[in-house]
Amino acid sequence: MRVDAHVHLSAWWPEIRRTGYRPDLEFTVAGLLREMDRSRLDYALAIQLVHAASELEALAEGRRVAEASGGRLLPVATVDPTRGERSVEATVAVLERDRSAVGIKLFPGYRPFYPHDRRLDPVYELARRRGLPVLVHQGDTLDGAGLLKYARPIEVDEVAGRFPELRLVLCHLGNPWIEEAAEIVYKNPNVYADTSGLLPPPSSPYFRRARELALRRVEEVVVSTGKPERFLYGSDWPLAEIRASVDLVERLKLEPGDVERILGENAAGLFRLKGAVAPRPEAERRRAAR
Ligand SMILES: [Zn+2]
Repeated sequence: MRVDAHVHLSAWWPEIRRTGYRPDLEFTVAGLLREMDRSRLDYALAIQLVHAASELEALAEGRRVAEASGGRLLPVATVDPTRGERSVEATVAVLERDRSAVGIKLFPGYRPFYPHDRRLDPVYELARRRGLPVLVHQGDTLDGAGLLKYARPIEVDEVAGRFPELRLVLCHLGNPWIEEAAEIVYKNPNVYADTSGLLPPPSSPYFRRARELALRRVEEVVVSTGKPERFLYGSDWPLAEIRASVDLVERLKLEPGDVERILGENAAGLFRLKGAVAPRPEAERRRAAR
């Protein structure tokens, strides 16, 4: 099974013509599915945006997208603790009943809060109880108004320690703090990282060199942590082309089976996707040996 663990498809993105990897990009369910088909992807996690008028509207949009895609686009809800305790409570109450979301995304950096902000505790509690992984935006913000101090991997360490049963995903390998992200993954058995957003648009004159650099960096974190089971392929579509992002992972020089794990088996297990491929015996052996 192949899964893109990081795409966005939302009407709350008016800047798409300027920020997408191609100005004529088809920013629709059909356009996204076509790109997924070209790279033989079964599913993609459609991460809702913090720019939505409310978390509940974002959730409703996620459900519409899931339906229109025949269940191939899996909604990921968002929560913004800076909207206040009441708003967090209301979103948690809805997520308690609504079973459509497969995960929850936080946008520290885009919004001024740290992942260890205590206002998020009810969200982490719910996520732990329901087995919903929490995806945390990391590193660079597209929007110059963001504040990077909130978006460093080191800030996720405390959450991982306080909620050992909660599973967390560091988005974009923490780029540019990739080494820091590697350490958070290495130290905490409940932390994963995705490979999204590491490539410039294919039209960039630096595309090939940037791709080589990204390839080296991803290989380095997988090898240095020795935890291939905790890395997830992601593109960050529409900011990056899906084909180029899959190609990046396919070209990683890793032990047999690890590329396919990163391309989908790990995500299938983490997000409990139907038809998930059972872990292979050698992966089980490796896990037991640690
Ligand atoms: Zn993203």
